[in-house]
Amino acid sequence: LFITFEGGDGSGKSTQSALLVEWLEQQGRTVVTTREPGGTELGEELREIVLHSRGHITPKSEALIYAADRAHHIATKVRPAIDCGDIVVQDRYLDSSVAYQGVARGLGAKEVRDVSLWATDGLLPDLTILLDLDESVGRDRMSSRTKYDRLEAEEREFHATVRAAYLDLAAAEPGRFLVIDATEEVPEIAANIRDRVAALLG
Ligand code: C5P
Repeated sequence: LFITFEGGDGSGKSTQSALLVEWLEQQGRTVVTTREPGGTELGEELREIVLHSRGHITPKSEALIYAADRAHHIATKVRPAIDCGDIVVQDRYLDSSVAYQGVARGLGAKEVRDVSLWATDGLLPDLTILLDLDESVGRDRMSSRTKYDRLEAEEREFHATVRAAYLDLAAAEPGRFLVIDATEEVPEIAANIRDRVAALLG
């Protein structure tokens, strides 16, 4: 089973994925927790490169680094885990690329999705949990982590575009997505996610 978490910065992906993993392990399941960008040694190096080159990297170059990370990560870590029956819980996957690079950076949703599917030999998640949050709420949550000193109007617009792109992706594939209002209480969200995963596990 392959489960991914998606959402903007500060939407609570890490908190919710940790709670889901804890619950799955209590059920006696073997879980592999991972993330993109990152997840492997090479991936963590690529993550450093891509996050530090922000503002002076072309959108296509950025998109291809994410794709390179993904190709390696899926082939060496995620597929082997799925193949031996483990549950993979992953922070961000191809929907991040489509929303951020495809739509918000303007590279084209279809193009970016196709690159990603090529990189991963067509791997799609069984379930994608989208933690939907207004950008300004996410920003307030992030402020204690001092991600941004001051979010420019341009950046606000970027995040609003990412949010809308995610919602479009979810609407196009309602069977794969669980869309959650990320302003709900943490335990409520966790219970909602558990119910959906329990149904998948049968
Ligand atoms: O969620 P995480 O903290 O791992 O994301 C790292 C950063 O990379 C975030 O600021 C996110 O917005 C950005 N990102 C991106 N394009 C992706 C994936 C992540 O811009 N495809």
